[in-house]
Amino acid sequence: MLDADFALFNVDQLVTVAPGSHPEASGELGVIQRAALAAKDGKIVWLGAMDDVYDHVQLSPDATVLNTHGRCVLPGFVDPHTHPVFAGDRTGDFYARALGASYDQQLKSGGIMHTVGATRAASEDTLLNCAFERADTFLQYGTTTIGAKTGYGLEEGAESKCLSVLNRLQRLHPLKVIPTYLAAHVLPADFAGDADEYIDLIADAWLPRVDGRAAFVDVWVDDGAFTAAQGRRLLERARELGFEITAHANEMGYGDGVRMATELNAASVDHAVYLSDQDVAALSRSRTVAVLLPGTTLFLGSDEYAPARRLVEAGATVAIGTDFNPGTSHTQNMQFILTMSVLKLHLTAEEAIRGATLHGARALRMDDRVGSLEIGKYCDLTVFSVDDYRSIAYQYAMNLVESVVAGGRIVVRDGQILSTTALAPVS
Ligand SMILES: [Zn+2]
Repeated sequence: MLDADFALFNVDQLVTVAPGSHPEASGELGVIQRAALAAKDGKIVWLGAMDDVYDHVQLSPDATVLNTHGRCVLPGFVDPHTHPVFAGDRTGDFYARALGASYDQQLKSGGIMHTVGATRAASEDTLLNCAFERADTFLQYGTTTIGAKTGYGLEEGAESKCLSVLNRLQRLHPLKVIPTYLAAHVLPADFAGDADEYIDLIADAWLPRVDGRAAFVDVWVDDGAFTAAQGRRLLERARELGFEITAHANEMGYGDGVRMATELNAASVDHAVYLSDQDVAALSRSRTVAVLLPGTTLFLGSDEYAPARRLVEAGATVAIGTDFNPGTSHTQNMQFILTMSVLKLHLTAEEAIRGATLHGARALRMDDRVGSLEIGKYCDLTVFSVDDYRSIAYQYAMNLVESVVAGGRIVVRDGQILSTTALAPVS
C-alpha cells in the first residue's frame, strides 16, 4: 500500500497529458475516465480508476480529500512567459492603439518607458504587494507555474530590486515562480545609440552579480530592440555563467533572432510571429520550444498571428503563454489563451492544452517536475467546472476554475484563494 496525505476523488476526466504513462490513459492527452489521484509530501504517488484507489492507497488520518463530483481535471497551467513585476499602467496606450497608433510610435513617445519609470520609483515592498496579488490571480485562473521576467528596471539597481521581488514571491507564495533576468528588454533612453555598450555592461558587470537569483537570462532580439549579434553576445555570456537562456524574438518583423536562439540551444524562443522557412526548420530540428503569445497579437491590434500550424506540422514543440505585461498583453487568463490558440493559431484542443501544460514546462526546462500528471511529479492540478476538456476553450473568456491544488495542497476552492502561506521551495 502507498501512503498518501492528499487524494482527489470522483474525477470524470483526469487529463494526464502523459499518454502511455498509465494503462487506462487514452487518447493523445492520456485521459483517465472516472479517476482518482493520490499524493504525498506534494508529489503524486498514484493515479488510476476511482474504483481501485483503496486497493493501492492508504490515506493518513489527517489527509485532505477533494471530491470533484464528476469534473474535468488538468495539470496546473504552466505559463512560461509573464512579466509580473511592474508599477504603473499603459491604459492610455491601449486606447490610443485601438484608434490607430502603432507600438513603434508609442515606443518613441514613451510607451514601455512609462512603466519603467514607475517601476524604478516604486519600493521593493510595493512591487512585492502588487506581484503577490497577481500571483493569487494566476492561481485563481488555474496557473500553478510561471516563467517570470524582469525588464521594467533597465538599470542594475532596479533590475536587482525586481529580481528580489521574484525571489521573495517564490519563497512566500504557492505559485511556482521561475525568475528570468531581462535587463536587455529594450534599450534605456540614456544609452540611446549605444546598444553595444549597454549589452557589454549587462554581460560583464551586472550578470555576474545576479548570482543565483535568476534561473534564466533573456533578451529581446527584434526591430526596435537588440540585434541577433547583441543577443548572442549576452546569451553566450549567460550560458558561461551557468544560466539557462531564452529570447524574445521575431515579434515585430523577420530577422535572425530565432535562428540565433536555436543555435545556442536556448530553452525557448518567444513570440516567433515572423518566421521564414529556415526559422521553422531550425526550430523543428532543435530542443528550443516556440512559445507563442496570441494574446499579445490581439492586444497590439495586429492580424499577424504566429504560424503555429507550420511549426506543429514541421515537428517543432509549441507552447503558449499569456505574456502578461502592462503594455502589450494585460491578461493572466490561460483559459482565454487556449481559446485564442484555437481560433487564431488554429491549434486543436489537444495541441493547445499540451502547449499550456507540458510544453510550457519544457520551455522552462521543468518538464521532469511539472506540466503533466504522473507519478513523481508535483501534485499541481486544476479542477474545472466542466466534464469535458474540450469545453474549456469553447466557453470562452470566462473563469471555469473551481479548485486548484499546488504541491498537494488546496489553494483555491470554489474560485476563492484559500491560503497563500509559504510552501516548500521548488527544488
Ligand atoms: Zn515578454
